[in-house]
Amino acid sequence: MKLESFWQATAPVFTGAATGDLPATADVVVIGGGFTGISAARALARSGLNVVVLEAAGVMSQASARNGGHCNTGVSQNFASLVASRGEQQANRYYRAFASAVDYVQSVIEEERIDCDFLRCGKIKLASKPGHFAGLKATYEALRRSVDPDVELIGADEVKREVNSDAFHGGLIQKRGGQMHMGKFGIGLAQAAANSGAAIFEHTPVTSLTRVKGHQHRVGTAKGEILADKVLMATGCSNVGPFEWFQRRIIPVGSFIVVTEPLSNPRELLPGNRTCVTSMNIGNYFRTTADNRLVFGGRARFAVSSPTSDARSGKILQAGMSKIFPSLADARIDYCWGGLVDMTADRLPHAGEHEGIFYSLGYSGHGTQMSVWMGRVMADLIAEKSVDNPWQRESWPAVPGYFGKPWFLPVAGLYYKTLDRIS
Ligand SMILES: Cc1cc2nc3c(=O)[nH]c(=O)nc-3n(C[C@H](O)[C@H](O)[C@H](O)COP(=O)(O)OP(=O)(O)OC[C@H]3O[C@@H](n4cnc5c(N)ncnc54)[C@H](O)[C@@H]3O)c2cc1C
Repeated sequence: MKLESFWQATAPVFTGAATGDLPATADVVVIGGGFTGISAARALARSGLNVVVLEAAGVMSQASARNGGHCNTGVSQNFASLVASRGEQQANRYYRAFASAVDYVQSVIEEERIDCDFLRCGKIKLASKPGHFAGLKATYEALRRSVDPDVELIGADEVKREVNSDAFHGGLIQKRGGQMHMGKFGIGLAQAAANSGAAIFEHTPVTSLTRVKGHQHRVGTAKGEILADKVLMATGCSNVGPFEWFQRRIIPVGSFIVVTEPLSNPRELLPGNRTCVTSMNIGNYFRTTADNRLVFGGRARFAVSSPTSDARSGKILQAGMSKIFPSLADARIDYCWGGLVDMTADRLPHAGEHEGIFYSLGYSGHGTQMSVWMGRVMADLIAEKSVDNPWQRESWPAVPGYFGKPWFLPVAGLYYKTLDRIS
């Protein structure tokens, strides 16, 4: 078993990195070379701006290539609860933003001819307990009534036509979601950004950021300083760099994934061939790959990612996978890894401007599509084009008592485990 991301291990090598000295000035410095930063850099370079990306490690080295591989429509929290907390109009706006984001990913793939196994397969949310079906039904009714007439609800008697397991009691299908090979997509996107003129410097962490005036900042690194007219923070849930204001608003939550050996007939397990998520708070997500493997992820433990931690989580995931699909009890696990999910208190992204710095962060586990779309939205905002930013809010309060070390996660874990047990 390799303790590395399947998406990274099987992606092409990025050959577009900038070499030589950092430039002294730039129209825009983008901090972070994941989907948000690279998508923004591509759009900025295409609109004729001089853009420099500073990436602490390699491009696509964090969440963007360490995720579950789902590129779904829907929102990052339960739609019925979103309607209750924000009202129907705002909930619909958020829902439509995710649908547009998936469309945008598809359009980039087609325009740049990125070979990344993109499939518009739809998603099924599976009721893990009989009582959870009522929650799916409420969401189904709210979605059908207000924003997605295509959504489908299937009962316990039909669920096996989608997922061949005795573990589920019905499901909610959203048909427009997709899946892709995240490493192939990410590297393809980075090549496209470099080809458009973005200078992408890898292994260049930003260590200081000093406001000069308005949007203009001095961006410091160990390799030198750049005077940037504008700066975009696209650092995910990083705790590297002088970004305390952002770090107090994003909680890094560990999530882990295992990938099996190629299976002789994966359609026997997932006849519907969709991306799948379970209804538990501490649940699982799974899908198959173009080379017939099962990618199976979940929270597993409230821990951060490290080789030892990933291996321990991998064992828990393997047991969970065999419970859902007993025929996989002896399947070989070829890859196992973990990553940090960029959670916010309201489980929705935040994007806008703080003290002259543009940012788009906090996709809360539902970011493979939204980060790519928000890269484009932020590029348009930076280039002063008129654009609708759905994630602009009046304020973004810090998480109370949180200064960068999420001491409360084990308590939250216990709370959600208890909810799952009694639900
Ligand atoms: C295990 C896991 C499973 C997930 N599954 C899914 C899924 O199936 N579907 C879905 O939609 N979403 C999923 N997500 C979430 C999704 O992957 C992220 O929301 C999305 O990739 C965020 O992209 P990003 O570019 O904002 O951040 P990232 O990809 O984290 O990129 C940020 C970059 O900034 C760099 N950086 C940080 N600090 C500095 C600094 N000081 N200087 C320079 N560079 C810096 C980092 O090195 C990193 O490369 C998952 C996430 C994880 C961790």
